[in-house]
Amino acid sequence: MGNSKTVYDAVVVGSGACGGWACKQLTEAGLRVLVLEAGRGLRADKALWIMHRLRQTLLRYHTESDTRRKERQQIQSTTFAWPFHPHAFVDDVDNPYTTPEGQPFTWIRARQVGGRTSVRAHGRQFYRLSDFDFKAGSRDGQGPDWPLTLADLAPHYETVERWMGIRGNTDGLPNLPDSIFAEPIPLTPAELRLKERVERRWPDRRVVARRTASAPVTMPAALKTGRLTLRTHAVVNQILHDAKTGRVTGVSYLDAESGKSYEAHGRIVVLAAGTIESARLLLHSRSSAFPDGLANSSGLVGRNLMDHTYLLGIEAKMNLPPEQQRKEHSWAYIPQFRNVTTREQGFVRGYGVQVFTFDDNCHFVPFGEMVPRAENRVTLSPTVKDRWGIPAAHIECKHSANEVKMVEDSVAACQEMMKEAGFTVERVNDTMSTPGMAIHEVGTARMGTDPKTSVLNAHNQSWDVPNLFVTDGSCFPSQGSQNPTLTMMAITVRACAYMVRELKAGRL
Ligand SMILES: Cc1cc2nc3c(=O)[nH]c(=O)nc-3n(C[C@H](O)[C@H](O)[C@H](O)COP(=O)(O)OP(=O)(O)OC[C@H]3O[C@@H](n4cnc5c(N)ncnc54)[C@H](O)[C@@H]3O)c2cc1C
Repeated sequence: MGNSKTVYDAVVVGSGACGGWACKQLTEAGLRVLVLEAGRGLRADKALWIMHRLRQTLLRYHTESDTRRKERQQIQSTTFAWPFHPHAFVDDVDNPYTTPEGQPFTWIRARQVGGRTSVRAHGRQFYRLSDFDFKAGSRDGQGPDWPLTLADLAPHYETVERWMGIRGNTDGLPNLPDSIFAEPIPLTPAELRLKERVERRWPDRRVVARRTASAPVTMPAALKTGRLTLRTHAVVNQILHDAKTGRVTGVSYLDAESGKSYEAHGRIVVLAAGTIESARLLLHSRSSAFPDGLANSSGLVGRNLMDHTYLLGIEAKMNLPPEQQRKEHSWAYIPQFRNVTTREQGFVRGYGVQVFTFDDNCHFVPFGEMVPRAENRVTLSPTVKDRWGIPAAHIECKHSANEVKMVEDSVAACQEMMKEAGFTVERVNDTMSTPGMAIHEVGTARMGTDPKTSVLNAHNQSWDVPNLFVTDGSCFPSQGSQNPTLTMMAITVRACAYMVRELKAGRL
């Protein structure tokens, strides 16, 4: 650690999906970059992982029965992925947040290099958004359009996809644009049967193979350039703003173990700490120039938080002949079909359905789009602080009648598709999970075309502070029904290309 007089070209906050890509793109373009990561590094994670596996095999350790661990991770332990890789998730006692009485939000976080994509049970489903999503606002009037189109983002999707080696099939669907695929994924006999029967009965519904890749581990590539300084256990608490120049100068951070505070300086600051955390940091970076939080002249920082609707879903027996039953897990995807070519009566937007199969079992899990609403927001708790004395996030977020109706529709549609395929529905888990459980949060610093109605421009640059960029899911004006991370990474790559151009042109 240590205060240094070095002024980096860029200081990146967070090394998750987005921060990792920012490090890779900026260093490969020749910039000297410092990344501050609140959690541990990859080697420390690997050592803990090996210990975890040894305890499981030699000592028959069960994460679920570890009451001490559960006490420290009361929130984190509610996600399906926690037992597989518990130490990847934060300690909830050290990292509290608050919600209004009776209005829970489940905030799932990983603090280590790679962020939540480093979790070993990560879903690794990567789908592009489409112009249906980017222009959803003007179709139904519920929120703004994006200030960019698929054509703007396509080259950057491609950069990410080629590097990750995404597998999947070319499906030619306008509302689920094809990626650049490294190799195809054949459908299993069960998925083929589902596809054939669903598409025959409902021509606007499609069953496609998943689109997947290994976790995007970008940090080694960035380190290889020799231009990246990675500082782990560095908890950023504020972004430093100079009222005289109107620019940010860097960040202040604390050593996670000793609590000692330091400063780091850069020509630009790239905030990529995750949707809720980035909003929290902006709000905590108050100054006389920005009494309501940095880059917040619009008053929109923290507002319009969204997360997909999520429920445990519908389980069925597929009644397949034994020779068609597969012992490996497979999963397929039914992209959004509501409000694509139709106009539904009861709700706007729609949902995609993830279809998991194993043996003779089938499980449909719909993920539905949440409409942006200003009252769903992140503020700072006036009383609760984290272990490092930083005000905790206060998260107010609830589903509206639109989401409730959409989920009801999805439960019915899943069952009718299962029945059409000859499956026997066995269990209907139709209780909507609390917001946050989909772990797809976006929206707290939306991008747009007008500084009055957005926080960032179309290049993730703060309207108020030209050398401040926020490149994580905070920038989403709306969320689509697809898993969001591929889009977050592509947007980061696009924003980084802009930063490099602007820096080289002397405009930053
Ligand atoms: C189990 C699981 C399965 C998932 N499956 C999918 C999927 O299939 N498809 C999909 O699209 N998405 C999936 N997601 C969601 C996906 O992982 C997130 O959308 C993505 O990781 C967000 O990237 P990010 O960089 O914004 O944030 P993160 O990946 O959360 O990274 C943020 C980083 O910032 C660091 N940080 C936070 N605060 C500070 C601070 N104050 N100072 C310094 N550093 C800080 C954190 O330690 C972390 O490393 C899944 C998530 C989980 C947990």
